[in-house]
Amino acid sequence: KVLVLGLAKSGTAVAKLLNRNGVEVIANDLKASEDDENVQSLQSQGISVIVGEHPLSLLDDVDAIIKNPGVPYENILIDNAVKQRLPVLTEIELIPYFGIDQIIGITGSNGKTTTTTLIYEMFKKADSPVSLAGNIGHVASEVAEQMNDKQTMIAELSSFQLLGIDIFKPRIAVLLNLFEAHLDYHHTLEHYQNAKANIFKNQSDHDFLVYNADDQRILNMIKNASSNLVPFSRKEVVTNGTYCDEKAIYFRGEKVIELASIVLVGEHNLENILAAISVAKLQGISNQVIETVLTTFTGVTHRLQFVKEVNGRKFYNDSKATNILATTKALSAFNQSIILLAGGLDRGNEFDDLLPYLANVKALVLFGETSPKLRKIGEASGIEDIEMVDTMTEAVQTAYQLSNKDDVVLLSPACASWDQYKTFEERGNMFMESVHKL
Ligand code: ADP
Repeated sequence: KVLVLGLAKSGTAVAKLLNRNGVEVIANDLKASEDDENVQSLQSQGISVIVGEHPLSLLDDVDAIIKNPGVPYENILIDNAVKQRLPVLTEIELIPYFGIDQIIGITGSNGKTTTTTLIYEMFKKADSPVSLAGNIGHVASEVAEQMNDKQTMIAELSSFQLLGIDIFKPRIAVLLNLFEAHLDYHHTLEHYQNAKANIFKNQSDHDFLVYNADDQRILNMIKNASSNLVPFSRKEVVTNGTYCDEKAIYFRGEKVIELASIVLVGEHNLENILAAISVAKLQGISNQVIETVLTTFTGVTHRLQFVKEVNGRKFYNDSKATNILATTKALSAFNQSIILLAGGLDRGNEFDDLLPYLANVKALVLFGETSPKLRKIGEASGIEDIEMVDTMTEAVQTAYQLSNKDDVVLLSPACASWDQYKTFEERGNMFMESVHKL
């Protein structure tokens, strides 16, 4: 008997999955109501659902709790379950029960989606049977239920998901980086680090751990790993793994691809590429396949994504850059002159931290609530062409007029989109539409 706690997308899917696999399920959500569609669909399948409260009696007779990654451990039911030594798991723990052991799991503070997508594309291009799961694809345990034993699962895994595992292990684990993130949930960096380390806790030396050898926190973390270690590095030659020089990327001494032929830009993306190549090479994917993917992959949508070249100007959509740090990364990715499109919701912060990164920016096209603040920073940087506009179409046309051949036109707003758009996706889509109309 399993208590499923938290009935968002994954909780609802897991309750149904357990139910159809013969497990007695009781589902609970504090915020949901009897009228919710997902609650009703669970009830129509005979699953008992308790909403609006967390009675402790829910713990009576249950063998385990599957909790939604978002439910905090301070939750009264979880707190009591831990005291009673009941297993508190996340849904990825169900994957091994379907006999799935060909799993590639990717985690890290940043770059998960990009790396997962790259690996997935390489498998597909190599005609290797593959399923995408986790944050980026479908609910992982549901994917596992439908997989056949020839397929490999490529799963993007968050620290929240990794906290709740007992026997789950990937054949290849990828650890990208570790920044201070999600401390509202994990409270301490150590706790967050331990969650990420769960990705290799069940691995043996038959399994591989691909890790970022340039990240000191990662190096500390993996000291006790029993896995077969495969490092990647942007900065030094790691003979047992993947590395690069100014011209090319190498895996264990063999040249894999010339850097100049890769479409993705940015040092952070180079790390994601090194990680993806490590996995592909471990899986025996050919250099030719890797090259085909990296010479055509323009980026995950809205993340420093190459859109189009128009009369020698290259347009990039980085609408996901909703804070200053993300925009500084995007600006650092180019040596060319940049026309920067920025602005959006005013959260009351200043933009001084952008200043050191504006050296290559020759013109600014600004919109949204923060445009006056950004204008000041642009002026402080000595940028002569600063335009304020109302719409994205106007922004793109103005940027085009201000640009010359070989310039980069970059949408990387450094702000959330909600003053003018529903989502950053809507903002990015409008940018791309306007570019295609030029
Ligand atoms: P995630 O899925 O972990 O959120 P994404 O691949 O969606 O990561 O990238 C989100 C943003 O994180 C990017 O736009 C970029 O600013 C930053 N980023 C991506 N990869 C890395 C990396 N390897 N190191 C640092 N920052 C990165």
